Amino acid sequence: MNVYDSARMADVLRPLGYEPADGPETADMVILNTCHIRDRAAEKVFSELGRLRVVKEARAQAGLSTVLAVAGCVAQAEGAEILARAPYVDIVLGPQTYHRLPEMVARAARAGGLPGGVVETDFPPEQKFDHLPDATGPQLPGGVTAFLTVQEGCDKFCSFCVVPYTRGAEASRPAASVLAEAARMVAGGVRELTLLGQNVNAYHGDGPDGRTWGLARLMQALADIPGLLRLRYTTSHPRDMDPTLIEAHRDLPQLMPFLHLPVQSGSDRMLASMNRGHTADDYRRLVDRLRRARPDLALSSDFIVGHPGETDADHAATLRLIGEIGFAQAYSFRYSPRPGTPAAGAPGRVADAVAGGRLQQVQALIRQQQDRYNRNSVGAAMPVLFTGRGRRPGQLSGRSPYLQAVHADAPESLIGTVAPVTITEMLTNSLTATLDPAANPLLERACA
Ligand code: SAH
Ligand code: SF4
Repeated sequence: MNVYDSARMADVLRPLGYEPADGPETADMVILNTCHIRDRAAEKVFSELGRLRVVKEARAQAGLSTVLAVAGCVAQAEGAEILARAPYVDIVLGPQTYHRLPEMVARAARAGGLPGGVVETDFPPEQKFDHLPDATGPQLPGGVTAFLTVQEGCDKFCSFCVVPYTRGAEASRPAASVLAEAARMVAGGVRELTLLGQNVNAYHGDGPDGRTWGLARLMQALADIPGLLRLRYTTSHPRDMDPTLIEAHRDLPQLMPFLHLPVQSGSDRMLASMNRGHTADDYRRLVDRLRRARPDLALSSDFIVGHPGETDADHAATLRLIGEIGFAQAYSFRYSPRPGTPAAGAPGRVADAVAGGRLQQVQALIRQQQDRYNRNSVGAAMPVLFTGRGRRPGQLSGRSPYLQAVHADAPESLIGTVAPVTITEMLTNSLTATLDPAANPLLERACA
């Protein structure tokens, strides 16, 4: 979502005359868009700021001013404390206020670099989406894939998570605004859209028909946009996987057979103490229903190890669940206490060495499953969306329906199209494929 937000900040600043720069040394303004989800992400902000300070001072000596802004969830959580720790920062803005950037830049300019800084970390009554200029297209120039935020914030308050405090209450964009933005992106060359939300499947936006639309209804309407070949959504919560969404996986050809469905733990005791609102068996049943709807569905997930109170038995239950489900890929994290969240003050802290050992076990099992999944793809025929040039000349890179990175020798004219390939080889983090002759008129001629 930060990738999407950063692109939208660029959209907001473009009318003021700002354009993307090659790096901080040549930039009149630098915005550091930050993440607060785990401690490591938050700490990076201050080391990065230290580096930007050096750049800002060097530019000042050359008579150039630099506006330095900190945006995103660290800005939201720490607010004015950032200015105390890094007084050379000019603007601190949260994820819900960036539509007000032009005004903040003007205020910072009036302050003329004097200490103080502009801080905008309230949750304004107006929705930023109503005040942003139209998105200009994919986040990357010439991009074939793009993100589009449809829902933001969260009311679920899992014990460990800062999102409800930093992104704020759950809110959905009206369907018409999403559809218009998607149509503009497709006109700009986007062929695959990933709909974003902290709980994207909790989406409940106002529909143009006066009804409230869920995510499945929204995706049906998006699928009608000519040229939009593929849809994905992330991140979804097991509790919001409603029957219409499961049916969409069966009925909507544009919806890709890949689902990121975080479960966090395989232990009911942990799931309860995390306030996830479901059991491990609920998750198993949900996966069964999804696989009945879409037998080739590839699953991904998130796991937290070392949440307060986690025992060896809880950890074993997580390994068991992973073993039973079989993931195509997954992310796992060592629990990181976040200030202000219920778990941060909870008893039963798990020793670092124990949590580290558990993390290694989870990661080894996931790696095994991922390798097995990719190995099983070798020999398979599947449609690949070519997204750009590959590493070698003559090669393109693309994405399988199951979100695997695929490389194949293919003409550049195929960028932005979906073409059939056969997977020939598994590498560590990607697959190699050959283009089916039928997909490539040049090849066909060569074969003839
Ligand atoms: N809304 C999604 C997850 C959003 S946060 C959901 O409910 O599943 C992305 C992932 O970061 C989470 O799934 C979790 O695995 C991880 N995470 C969040 N807070 C964390 C913390 N305090 N320590 C470690 N991992 C955390
Ligand atoms: Fe955080 Fe997701 Fe839980 Fe919301 S549902 S509090 S975003 S982990």
